[in-house]
Amino acid sequence: MSTARLTIDLDALVANWRALDSLTRVETGAVVKANGYGLDSGQVGRALAMAGVRNFFVAVAEEGAILRRALGPGPQISVFSGHCDGDTALIRDNDLTPMLNSVDQMLRHVEALPGAAFGIQLDSGMNRLGMEPAEWAALRDIALSQNPVLIMSHLACADEPAHPMNAQQLSVFKEMTDGLSVPRSLAATGGTLLGPEYHFDLCRPGVGLYGGMPFEDALAVVQLDLPVIQIRDLQPGETVGYSNTWTAQRPSRIATVSAGYADGLIRALGATAVTFAGDEVCPIVGRVSMDLITVDVTDLDHDPSFLTLLNDRQTVDDLADAAGTIGYEILTSLGARYQRRYKG
Ligand SMILES: *Cc1c(COP(=O)(O)O)cnc(C)c1O
Repeated sequence: MSTARLTIDLDALVANWRALDSLTRVETGAVVKANGYGLDSGQVGRALAMAGVRNFFVAVAEEGAILRRALGPGPQISVFSGHCDGDTALIRDNDLTPMLNSVDQMLRHVEALPGAAFGIQLDSGMNRLGMEPAEWAALRDIALSQNPVLIMSHLACADEPAHPMNAQQLSVFKEMTDGLSVPRSLAATGGTLLGPEYHFDLCRPGVGLYGGMPFEDALAVVQLDLPVIQIRDLQPGETVGYSNTWTAQRPSRIATVSAGYADGLIRALGATAVTFAGDEVCPIVGRVSMDLITVDVTDLDHDPSFLTLLNDRQTVDDLADAAGTIGYEILTSLGARYQRRYKG
């Protein structure tokens, strides 16, 4: 067996959802877009549904259809991209709830599926998805007469609690929605942590469930173990890997592990990321290549059979820091070649 093993701890995922839920007095849903942040929306969705989640969010209708097959009837599955051209059959057949983003989407939805559930997405300043304040003012009475099940918006800077954009978007969202008798949602993971003003009727965390920042207290959900496929001895002065970027300064032992940038372990992380042999730290040396990574195991008193790249000591955010990106990107890039194991 030479493929790396990705272990996904569904108990930790559920514990993270419970921990976020316990920070609020309102309902807590779950965002499982991008195939459950790369961890399998069916596995993740079923575990969360069993723990009591009734509201799921995906990016596009196709993801909603896959999730509905995994969950069966019951939980609400909302689609951030709304009701796009070509989505009607998917929405109808899978009982999806589009979050309508424009007048055009509203017309498409009520014409194609009169009486079918929908929500409204408002733009409170991020300028990405949702109806603008003026558009909403013009459409509001008609939209409300069709009984939306949720009105939502999204925060651009919620991972920075002191950012003035948070309060500004909160105030715009309130202006657009105060006094309406429709459930409201503004907070993702970051907004959930900002406090009760941001919670409204429903919080919808994503990344925090999967162990990512800005949820500092999250339990690690993923562990990645890379099998060692060869170990060799180097003399001082010998080099390792493409472009000779690392040179042995002492007699060294180098382990070659099976995984590389084709598995989402992007080249940039090689500079400062480490691996673990049990409790001991072994640095990555040389360039990360497509299928292989080289590790300095000189200081170990044994030859390891695998080295761990992701665990509770080096999280997706630590790897992201090493690579100059964010935990979300590391998570959603974890590759298709891994042998995946679900715990819990
Ligand atoms: C991705 C997303 C979320 C979840 O965000 P996290 O930061 O992962 O918690 C919530 N709402 C919208 C509209 C999103 O696009």
